[in-house]
Amino acid sequence: MALTRMVVLAFAILLSGTRATNGQQPAAVATLVQDPVVKAALAVAKDTEARTIEDQIRFCEVPAPPFKEAARGEVLRREFAGLGLQNVRVDRVGNVLGDRPGGAARPRVVIAAHLDTVFPEETNVKVSREGSTLRGPGIGDDCRGLAVMTAIIRSMREANVQTAGTVTFVANVGEEGLGDLRGMKALFGETMKGQIDRFVSIDGTGLHVTTVAVGSHRYRVTFKGPGGHSYGAFGLASPIHALGRAVAKIAEFQVPQHPRTTFTVGRIGGGTSVNSIAFDAWMEVDMRSPSPSALANLDARFQDAVDAAAREENSRWGKPGVITVVKELVGDRPAGEAPEGSPIVQTALAVGRTLGLPVGLGEGSTDANIPISLNIPAITIGGGGRGADAHALTESFDTTDAWKGAQNALLLTIALAR
Ligand SMILES: [Zn+2]
Repeated sequence: MALTRMVVLAFAILLSGTRATNGQQPAAVATLVQDPVVKAALAVAKDTEARTIEDQIRFCEVPAPPFKEAARGEVLRREFAGLGLQNVRVDRVGNVLGDRPGGAARPRVVIAAHLDTVFPEETNVKVSREGSTLRGPGIGDDCRGLAVMTAIIRSMREANVQTAGTVTFVANVGEEGLGDLRGMKALFGETMKGQIDRFVSIDGTGLHVTTVAVGSHRYRVTFKGPGGHSYGAFGLASPIHALGRAVAKIAEFQVPQHPRTTFTVGRIGGGTSVNSIAFDAWMEVDMRSPSPSALANLDARFQDAVDAAAREENSRWGKPGVITVVKELVGDRPAGEAPEGSPIVQTALAVGRTLGLPVGLGEGSTDANIPISLNIPAITIGGGGRGADAHALTESFDTTDAWKGAQNALLLTIALAR
């Protein structure tokens, strides 16, 4: 297994080496920006920022709760068609796709922004505006990304930018929480499997370039037993006591600081009354690391701790098999890293430098986790402006100089599609 993995990895590195010599030229970004057509496109991105902001508000006022992104998806589908994208389509899971063909089908660049929010269905999604500040749930994360994506398409269209490769724009589902990157899992595993050479997600605000993909494993663990009266059935192994043993073991885990590796038992529950031996007990556990091996190691120790807890509770009362345990994987975001020296990261940094923007590298758990874990060149960038209170009802977005974020994303798209 380990050997197979290593061979696959070596092959992937070889492939990405081939890609590096085939189109992505970070050094050429400074030249690219002198091209009159590119200059014109950048001017459109700046001059139509008011329109971009209007789009941002319009998209945001259509609710997009987790697993219910279809209404906002339909707005983006119409937008893609109206902006002249070709082969506009919706895939099995609800990702909305549209192509902007270049001279050839490859390299294929995907520019994505996520449709979903963390907010439940009944949330008031009306956006208010006060000076340069917009307020509304999701206004930055990720209505800004969706709006910047349409600004890219509009700018390339109005300036008639020609690219060597083809760009596919994707408004995707399932980035947040229990969405568990299902939009990306379907895009890379099914809808466009084997067809994507470079990937950029525009997510949130500011000008970060996320290259480190923090992975996570989340479990719901359920201990079960026959249960009984606290006095009458005394001597029976207890699911709650087994859970307590498991939590005690997890609480003592030692984890590396570098790469930063974390764990928590986030929720627990179980039992029916104070005078009962419970028949069930459950917990939800979250583990994270940017290192696939550190995450796998932590996961293995977690599995052992849970199994040992059930075993020890049974042997405490001398009856094996009374308490059973089920571990259900409810979240799985693969970890990885786009190397700082890789062409896509260098191109993103060159774009920032060329435009005089303070672009810095960062880490996070984003849609780019999926391609990064597949060794496909991928990053996540911000859509510009300044955001605050993401994932809260008080979320806001400061539009001051936000057009710089649109220009940044536009120039990166053009540079990657050459
Ligand atoms: Zn987001």
